Amino acid sequence: MSPVTETEEHKALRSAVAALGKRYGRDYLTRVVAEEAHPDELWSEAAKLGYLGVNLPEAYGGGGGGIAELSIVLEELGAAGCPLLMMVVSPAICGTVIARFGTESQKRQWLPGLADGTRTMAFGITEPDAGSNSHRITTTARRDGDTWLLTGRKVFISGVDIADATLIVGRTEDARTGSLKPCLFIVPRDADGFERRRIDMELHGAEKQFELTLDDVRLPAEALVGDEDAGLLQLFAGLNPERVMTAAFAIGMGRYALNRAVEYARERTVWKAPIGAHQAVAHPLAQAHIELELARLMMQKAAFLYDSGDDVAAGEAANMAKYAAGEACVKAVDQAVHTLGGNGLTREFGLASLITASRVARIAPVSREMILNYVSHQTLGLPKSY
Ligand SMILES: Cc1cc2nc3c(=O)[nH]c(=O)nc-3n(C[C@H](O)[C@H](O)[C@H](O)COP(=O)(O)OP(=O)(O)OC[C@H]3O[C@@H](n4cnc5c(N)ncnc54)[C@H](O)[C@@H]3O)c2cc1C
Repeated sequence: MSPVTETEEHKALRSAVAALGKRYGRDYLTRVVAEEAHPDELWSEAAKLGYLGVNLPEAYGGGGGGIAELSIVLEELGAAGCPLLMMVVSPAICGTVIARFGTESQKRQWLPGLADGTRTMAFGITEPDAGSNSHRITTTARRDGDTWLLTGRKVFISGVDIADATLIVGRTEDARTGSLKPCLFIVPRDADGFERRRIDMELHGAEKQFELTLDDVRLPAEALVGDEDAGLLQLFAGLNPERVMTAAFAIGMGRYALNRAVEYARERTVWKAPIGAHQAVAHPLAQAHIELELARLMMQKAAFLYDSGDDVAAGEAANMAKYAAGEACVKAVDQAVHTLGGNGLTREFGLASLITASRVARIAPVSREMILNYVSHQTLGLPKSY
């Protein structure tokens, strides 16, 4: 497929997921969040229809597609007002890393469940004292006979309470300092010494964030995914899909907000014509639409490069897509809220909470500034200040 225009299959997937999203919609998610529940019904139905595992290998119950298809699913659910944030981590990062680097037994143990929605996996790399600088992470794995002992702290890790396990990024004792040589471990939710504390976030989302403590968590040898010496390649095999999926999340949210604003601007009349007739209202909405479309184009390019196996080019494109989508989402939400005037801030119209939510894609999984740093150094060859 070409990244510029979508195939008929992709269009069909888009409209099928949009129809599912419409059946649930924003009201469903609002209810789930108010009840402090999880979007289990939508998660299971999307899984049953093959949408959650669309990127996973067919041999393990997946759809045999790629991140291009998975990003369509997340974008359309988001555009319907009911995004599933855990898609960014469970099938996109963890599913991909296990499919690409896992042992046969890890694949058999995890992939069918991730695909059919009966199992979920969270992903933890961020640490309190490292943040954007992943090279500073200190979560350390030490060998003890046939087992590993994992010790460290993580922060802002999404969905650990509902995930059967968390894929934790650490480093081995031998590679404790210097440039990051990451190694990845599957840590079951109830492992001894694995504690979580919920962080009180100002986010109207079903998925919660947690601070994690790992205190000599004993793991079997097969908890290690991939090679302990494989380095950054394995990690980025998961992080590039994460960036593409965060772009999809942001574009979906931006489209949802923009559509609410356009509907409102067509109807709301306080002078002679609906407010949408005023260019001061219409143009920023048109701009938001253009910027979301442009971001999607970059997202499609990144997904295409990733799915065709070009990890290096995909890395640059995924960063740019995440940047463009995060910015487009923040602007679209801001303009949508403004278009509704006072109603933009009411619970009834439900847009105000998106002001906070839309900032997530600007910060996570890699901040706007870190992407600008990446493009400055890697693409433009400018010197580094840090
Ligand atoms: C809702 C949410 C969900 C998340 N889910 C997960 C998850 O599931 N798993 C996970 O591992 N992590 C998760 N994260 C963490 C997220 O990836 C981090 O918040 C992000 O990487 C930024 O790290 P930090 O918060 O420590 O910010 P910091 O690194 O402290 O940065 C703070 C500010 O300084 C700026 N800054 C830092 N260094 C530079 C520099 N060199 N040049 C210019 N500016 C700089 C940053 O851009 C940012 O604006 C989540 C975060 C949020 C908000």
